[in-house]
Amino acid sequence: MEQNGKLFVISAPSGAGKTTLIKRVLARFARVSYSVSHTTRSPRPGEIHGKDYFFINQDQFVHMIDTGHWLEWARVHGHYYGTSKAFVTEQLEKGNTLLLDIDVQGAGQIMASGLDPVSIFIMPPSLAVLRRRLENRGTDDPQTIARRLENAQQEIAQKHMFQYVLVNDDLETASAQLCRIFEKEM
Ligand code: ADP
Ligand code: 5GP
Repeated sequence: MEQNGKLFVISAPSGAGKTTLIKRVLARFARVSYSVSHTTRSPRPGEIHGKDYFFINQDQFVHMIDTGHWLEWARVHGHYYGTSKAFVTEQLEKGNTLLLDIDVQGAGQIMASGLDPVSIFIMPPSLAVLRRRLENRGTDDPQTIARRLENAQQEIAQKHMFQYVLVNDDLETASAQLCRIFEKEM
C-alpha cells in the first residue's frame, strides 16, 4: 500500500478517556479523518451506526474475515472489532491524515503490516480512577466493567509498544498534550 498520508493509532484501556480525547482532536484538526470501525457489540445509547461504529452481526464479521476485508481485527472484551482495509488504503493513498481508535492487538497488527503509524497509548491515572470512570459513564453492566478492568491490566502491560504514552488525568492537560503530538507529527 502506498502511504502518502499520515496514520495515527490510538489505544487505551476501556474507560481511560480515549473517545473523549479523540473527539477533541477531531474538533481541533479539520484535516484529520476518523476511521469508523465495525463491531459485533450492541450500540450504547446515543451511538449512531456509521458514525461511532458500523454495527454488524457475528456471521457478517466472520464472512468479512474470510473475504480479506480487514486491515486488522481482534476479539476484544468478547466482541469482534475490525478496521476496513479499503477505507484506510484509499485515505492514505489520497494523502489524508487518518486516526484509528483500536485496541493493542490491532495496534500490533498495524505496526507489523508495513504501515508507519504514529502510535499513542492513553493511560488512566490509576485502576481505581479507571473503575470510577467506567461506573460513572453508566453504559456498562457490572460484569462488563469487571471484564474491562481485567483486560486493562494486560493492555497497560503492553504500553511500551507505543511511541507516545499519555496519562489522562486532567482532561484539559491531556487534550492539550495530545493536540501537540498531532501538531508535531502532521
Ligand atoms: P474510552 O473511550 O477510553 O472507553 P471515554 O472517553 O468514554 O473512554 O471516557 C470514559 C468516561 O470517563 C466518560 O464518562 C468520560 O466523560 C470520562 N472522562 C474522560 N476523560 C476524563 C478525565 N480526564 N477526567 C474525568 N473524567 C474523564
Ligand atoms: P468500545 O466497545 O469501548 O467502543 O471499544 C472497546 C475496545 O475496542 C477499545 O479498546 C477500542 O479501541 C477497541 N476497538 C474499536 N474499534 C476497533 C477496531 O477496529 N479494531 C480493534 N482491534 N480494536 C478496536
